[in-house]
Amino acid sequence: MTYDMIIIGGGPGGYTAALYAARAGLKVAVLEKLSAGGQMALTSQIDNYPGFQDGVDGFQLGEQMQQQAERFGAETVLAEVTGVELKGKEKKIITSEGAFYSKTVVIATGADPRELGLPEEKALVGRGVNYCAACDGMRYRGKTVVVIGGGNTAVADALQLSRIAQKVILVHRRDQLRATQVYHDQLLRTPNIELRWNSQVAELLHDGKLTGVKLRNVRTGEESAVQCDGVFVSIGRAPITALFAGQLSLDESGYIIAGESTETNTPGVFAVGDVRTKVLRQVVTAVSDGAMAAHYAEEYLASL
Ligand code: NAP
Repeated sequence: MTYDMIIIGGGPGGYTAALYAARAGLKVAVLEKLSAGGQMALTSQIDNYPGFQDGVDGFQLGEQMQQQAERFGAETVLAEVTGVELKGKEKKIITSEGAFYSKTVVIATGADPRELGLPEEKALVGRGVNYCAACDGMRYRGKTVVVIGGGNTAVADALQLSRIAQKVILVHRRDQLRATQVYHDQLLRTPNIELRWNSQVAELLHDGKLTGVKLRNVRTGEESAVQCDGVFVSIGRAPITALFAGQLSLDESGYIIAGESTETNTPGVFAVGDVRTKVLRQVVTAVSDGAMAAHYAEEYLASL
């Protein structure tokens, strides 16, 4: 059997593509290795997705998106994708549950936040360790937070948090930011942001909840403890695209090159959500991508 659309990844972008495509009468399957929701499912309180006055649990929202798409006939297959052949008119997806064939493929595999790799880091997620300022920043109103990183994300996060927290300490491992110049000027003009250059977090201090960080100066080796209520690890993301290298154009960071139409350089293959090149990686932009992918996939199918 050949599907009209196979979607790899059951996050918000993937299930929105499934919803729109199923409602358009296409035969659709979502391949998901674990459960619906993707990164969103790891966020207990989402306050920036419109329509939920008191916020919404990401795991629940993922399940609801799945059920909504399934109501219109989309199938979910629990399977891990191990290989793809995307170039021909009939696309082949090889999975732990066998091979699937489809006329179009929507890639919605997302991106994992890069971690510091410190021993207690995983245990402190939700207890002071965060990876998304737009998602979790509001919890730190009037508090002190540390932001780690020196790229555009870290600086944008520091600026955003400076409007919420009482104090923001930006910790960067070098003495020069990677972020674009316009951000440097804004940083220096923001009185409640303190910069710690040439510094790395050597240890997360906690009593079950984060209480501070131990910083190590990478030049002198000197260590100092900094009290804070939260840490934002803003050292970049790693898109989940290893399977597609060589078959789709990726940018230098590994994201699939695709614009607003979500079309990749391979006809019939679309990329939605965090995995594609874009400025703002949020649930609300992922769902928008999903709708676009279904629209352009319909156009592509009509042209076959
Ligand atoms: P990035 O540009 O790769 O920067 C990552 C930063 O984290 C770098 O400063 C790096 O330090 C630091 N870092 C990496 N690993 C580390 C570790 N283990 N410990 C401590 N520090 C570490 O990533 P990004 O800032 O997420 O940006 C990704 C892309 O999105 C970029 O192309 C960026 O321009 C774009 N973006 C744009 C905007 C905007 O234009 N408004 C906003 C956000 C993101 P080094 O500098 O020493 O390598």
